[in-house]
Amino acid sequence: MIHLAPARRFGLTAVLLSVAVTVAACGVTAGSGAGQAAPSGTKPKAGNGDVVGSDVVPTTGTTTPSTTTAPPPTDLAIKGDDGSETNKTVANAIADLQTWWAGQFPAVYGKPYQPVSGGFFAVGPGSSTIGLPCSPDTIDQVLDNAYYCPTDDAVVWDQDGLMPDLAAKYGTFTPAVVLAHEWGHAIQERAQFSAATVISEQQADCFAGAWVKHVKTDDDARFRITTDDLDNALAGFLSLRDAPGSTADDPNAHGSGFDRVRAFQEGFESGVQRCSEYRDGDPKPYQFPFSRTDEVETNGDLPLEGKDGIIDLAFPSLDAYWKAEFPKIAGGKAWDPMGDPRPFGPTTPPTCDGDKIEGYRLFVCFPDRYVAFDDTDTIPATYKDGGDFAVATLFATQYGLDIESQLDEVPSSEVTATLIGDCYAGSWAASILPGVQQPTEDGIVLSPGDLDEAVGVLLQFRSDDDRKRQGPGFDRVHAFGVGVTKGADACPDVRPS
Ligand SMILES: [Zn+2]
Repeated sequence: MIHLAPARRFGLTAVLLSVAVTVAACGVTAGSGAGQAAPSGTKPKAGNGDVVGSDVVPTTGTTTPSTTTAPPPTDLAIKGDDGSETNKTVANAIADLQTWWAGQFPAVYGKPYQPVSGGFFAVGPGSSTIGLPCSPDTIDQVLDNAYYCPTDDAVVWDQDGLMPDLAAKYGTFTPAVVLAHEWGHAIQERAQFSAATVISEQQADCFAGAWVKHVKTDDDARFRITTDDLDNALAGFLSLRDAPGSTADDPNAHGSGFDRVRAFQEGFESGVQRCSEYRDGDPKPYQFPFSRTDEVETNGDLPLEGKDGIIDLAFPSLDAYWKAEFPKIAGGKAWDPMGDPRPFGPTTPPTCDGDKIEGYRLFVCFPDRYVAFDDTDTIPATYKDGGDFAVATLFATQYGLDIESQLDEVPSSEVTATLIGDCYAGSWAASILPGVQQPTEDGIVLSPGDLDEAVGVLLQFRSDDDRKRQGPGFDRVHAFGVGVTKGADACPDVRPS
């Protein structure tokens, strides 16, 4: 991010969060009085039910693969196949994509689907480039990559680096999603689709999302996946985004992580028909260049602490936004402002309405009007791994819960309450995009990559209990995106998928 006053910023790091942070939500129906249930599952007792928040438990480690796949088809030939598990996943993805598109393509484009028939090529550092689709000059151009070659109607992937790396980091289903994206380009060739690169990349992501929905819901799919697999696949998408600060008209642009995830989710929700309608300018990319040279130097990251740090700057920005926005969504009613935020250490949790609050790392106390956060472990770890806007997003979700409380919204479940709060956080984020009129002169403005940081922190891998309380990261990212793209008005209608 940028701090507008002098020259500083806030912003992001290009790295995906590797430390899992559980954030969020709410144990209770926002704003209710005594007698509400404490958050189910995890330890903390919310006492009187006025505290909602997050039991943020940083954990490390990779994801547990949960995907199961059918035995790979025997009649599918992969040139250079090393016989790895990853290639079996890829073979299943290819077989499933061919079948699924044979049904989808005619329905949307009004003509039969021609199967991809130019061959499938698995390569590694020792592979020859001779005979490879689209004739790469060196094998290095192919390593760490996967591509569809339109002239040869063929698909190529790195079986030593990219695919096993993605599988190790983001789960065994993620290589299949990469294939689904490449298939999107094969579809574009068949549909004679033409648009700026950033739009064709997002359309391919949208097609991939539509296919993943089929995998998730249709009994005849060759995979069985869980919501964890979905969250991991989205995290994998983020890892493949363009470098922050590149612009959407860059000929090689794939879109920011936020853009790509949004397109994927649009396909997942709305299906191939909507993806087929993508055009230049629709969807609008949320991608912008660094605005100042010092922003490039810091990669757009404000410090964590101090008067120019994100902790001190995020809260005034949230206060200013909600002071102006709340009356618009509350029929003119003024927002009851929050008090000063309360950082706390492991042994010094604050009280809320007289009750000692233990077990939470981040929460909002409605009666006493404050947001509290663990500034010893949780917030520094989030900042280190996720960037400044990951931290700011956590604070914003707590304000979002407070907004529900102030509106007397009574969500039907903890999960819904979390999602609505995430949506309000997104509406605040949209208000500090570059070029948006700011309510104060010394506020903060998003840097390239900040929205990706929000996606990253909302996707954090959490315990099953947290997931039950807060919903899958997939839904949280979607809710945040609704707030960014449609504003606070749309938030009360957000629901779990
Ligand atoms: Zn692509």
